[in-house]
Amino acid sequence: MISTFAQRLIRWQSAHGRHDLPWQGADAYHVWLSEIMLQQTQVATVLPYYRRFIAAFPNIDALSAATEEQVLAHWSGLGYYARGRNLHAAARIITQKHHGEFPRVFEQILELPGIGRSTAAAICALAWHERRAILDGNVKRVLARHRGIAGSPGKAFETRLWQLAEALLPQRDIAVYIQAQMDLGATLCTRNRPRCDMCPVQSDCVAYQSGRVNEFPAPRLRKAVPERHATFLLLLHGNDILLEKRPGSGIWGGLWCPPQFVDEAAALAWGAKEGINIAYPGSGGEKDLKGKVLGRDYPANSKIACGPLRTFTHSFTHFKLHITPLLLRLQHRPKQVRQAGSVWLDVGEALRAGIPQPVRALLEEYCRS
Ligand code: SF4
Repeated sequence: MISTFAQRLIRWQSAHGRHDLPWQGADAYHVWLSEIMLQQTQVATVLPYYRRFIAAFPNIDALSAATEEQVLAHWSGLGYYARGRNLHAAARIITQKHHGEFPRVFEQILELPGIGRSTAAAICALAWHERRAILDGNVKRVLARHRGIAGSPGKAFETRLWQLAEALLPQRDIAVYIQAQMDLGATLCTRNRPRCDMCPVQSDCVAYQSGRVNEFPAPRLRKAVPERHATFLLLLHGNDILLEKRPGSGIWGGLWCPPQFVDEAAALAWGAKEGINIAYPGSGGEKDLKGKVLGRDYPANSKIACGPLRTFTHSFTHFKLHITPLLLRLQHRPKQVRQAGSVWLDVGEALRAGIPQPVRALLEEYCRS
């Protein structure tokens, strides 16, 4: 008799799955952190962030006592910053409402910010061996292929997969089974070029047996991705750069960024209003430089001339942002520059603060002395 889907996965995981991930066999806090970091992010990328994060915040109390800024500094570069903000907010709720103990009840876990049904189930299954089904992106792909479930991703498709995920749950070895599903989706049943030849469930995989692996799951109907443009003003005074804290919500909420404008003209207009002679060779404002803003004549050790730099594109889930950096070096620091939420930070210090990846790349390429 052929073993069940779960039995084969459990056997395969024991022999070929991943066993040395630092959160495996750990407590709910470590499992929770790993599950949040692994959303939209590959294990190899997560590992160094996870290790640094745990070193800085070894338990819920430490995370709860930290400032949001400290948490975001450790999330800097990992992307999807709402994850870090929610993690921090949830830690504070756990401290206040659950006396610092990660809640043991599934429904209470679900109430925490940033935790959905699949993540809550993964924590229960991996930390406490509770019999719960998960359905992350990898598991959806494995199940849709194995059972040949067609249909575009959407509510009906998800409902069907949840029912299937529940029905396939084994009675025992739940933690190994959950890890097996994750490992299979990440290492063999990958989106592109799956390794069906090594798969433990290929004998009854509908997609494989019918030669239609690439048809499952059906691709999401892609809408045109909106494109936006922005000018980032890299305003330097010596080794310091002007940064602003983004409002708490939104894609880069709570992170430090250079002042952002819709275009270069808006940046120049802002400069005029703030009393800064923003001018550089070619801007038409050289005659107003008066030694305050240095362009062509910046000291010989400056590798980069002032002015607009190469435009580059950063892709978010829902839009593309074309960023044109505008680099200016001030000889004198202006008295008033967007005081509220603004700060002049040493570039080295800025690189250790909570900044998004494109800002990090800009500072490293153009602003480090
Ligand atoms: Fe995925 Fe291929 Fe295994 Fe089917 S046989 S579950 S498509 S890896």
